[in-house]
Amino acid sequence: MRLLDNFKQPRKLQRRFVSLALDDLIEKGLIRPVAERVELLAQRPSILTAWLHLTNACNLRCAYCYIYKTPSKMELTRGKQAVDAVFRSAIAQGFSGIKLKYAGGEPTLNFELVLTLHCYAQELANKNELSLDGVLLSNGVGLTDRMIEDLQNYGIRLMVSLDGLDDFHDGQLPFINGKGSFTKVMDSLDKLAKYSLVPSISITVSSLNLQGLPTLVELLLARQLPFSINFFRDNNCTQTFGDLAFQEAEIISAMRAAFTAIERNLPPYSLLGSLLDRTRLDSPHNRTCGVGNSYLVIDQHGAVAKCHMQIEQTITDVDTADPLALINTDSIGIQNLPVTEKEGCRDCTWRYYCAGGCPALTYRATGRYDVKSPNCNIYKALFPDLIRLEGLRLLKYGSEFNPQPHESDCACDDCACG
Ligand code: SF4
Ligand code: SF4
Repeated sequence: MRLLDNFKQPRKLQRRFVSLALDDLIEKGLIRPVAERVELLAQRPSILTAWLHLTNACNLRCAYCYIYKTPSKMELTRGKQAVDAVFRSAIAQGFSGIKLKYAGGEPTLNFELVLTLHCYAQELANKNELSLDGVLLSNGVGLTDRMIEDLQNYGIRLMVSLDGLDDFHDGQLPFINGKGSFTKVMDSLDKLAKYSLVPSISITVSSLNLQGLPTLVELLLARQLPFSINFFRDNNCTQTFGDLAFQEAEIISAMRAAFTAIERNLPPYSLLGSLLDRTRLDSPHNRTCGVGNSYLVIDQHGAVAKCHMQIEQTITDVDTADPLALINTDSIGIQNLPVTEKEGCRDCTWRYYCAGGCPALTYRATGRYDVKSPNCNIYKALFPDLIRLEGLRLLKYGSEFNPQPHESDCACDDCACG
């Protein structure tokens, strides 16, 4: 403010003044020297994230799901071997902590295994002085009181998918028999509120539900539920791709309508890392996700893949001494290149906040990993709106205490992604 006040009356910039101002801003942590950023970008995440695919079964048939459903589930012995393998890789490669994503299919259909594996992982974490974070990725339709109490007692976080109100959700996430699941999810949210367990909400946007986005975020803000928004990604299982794909103009307009709804009820925590698909404006990074670097996907049989959306393309299994080492060096599956190696991204203003988008999606759309995201125009159109929203939020809360919600798990970071 002191700096800005100097320009209440127009005046020329003095070199000395600029130099002092920069020193001041660096000292207060408001800007960082470029060298420091380069160093930061080169660092690998300190947390190893592992997707544990506890079952291939699901009670829903979501329009965009990438799993070929079968009744096959993970058995206890294989589950423990999977956890052992994650810890072996974490220790061998010097990670300071582990994040386990209990996933599927629908992991509440193999819930006892969630609890058993989490206890087992906690023992290993304590023994090896590693941090442990566990999150259950659920569709939310089968949560019982007992499950909620167990999640609380075991300290396991919860992410629930909710894609809209009423038909907007039902059209995208129906039960096997075709009936909508919205009412069941809302019952679960009510139940969770009774226990004061705050889930993070994962929203997947497709052409089917984008018109309902503003009313959905209004509801979530009114209930003080943290949420993340991700865009639908085409995959081999999507039979209805033509129906789900969106036009750039329509998704930009729907997102702006959602931002307007957020502006009316700005939350006390930053939304910079959770509103715009796989981008994160809250922390510079040069890779979109942890694929090939700090992410393991373990299927119900113990085979290890690079990305949950390509869970059938396995590279190794949990019997290997260090499965992450093989994932790190694989040159055939998804290649998660730094943003500076992507054509179209190298000189982009937003490169360290976008990182060029989901490599799996880009490859599917273009046959290449070294080019910008097919969502590029959408991101570029919306980044300024998102920064404006954050500015308004900062003005609203000023210097008040500014709490963060639980770390968002893109059901790609609570998006399902690693
Ligand atoms: S995908 Fe587009 S917005 Fe993202 S870094 Fe590349 S050029 Fe920039
Ligand atoms: S962004 Fe998510 S879906 Fe895309 S490659 Fe990374 S982990 Fe897989």
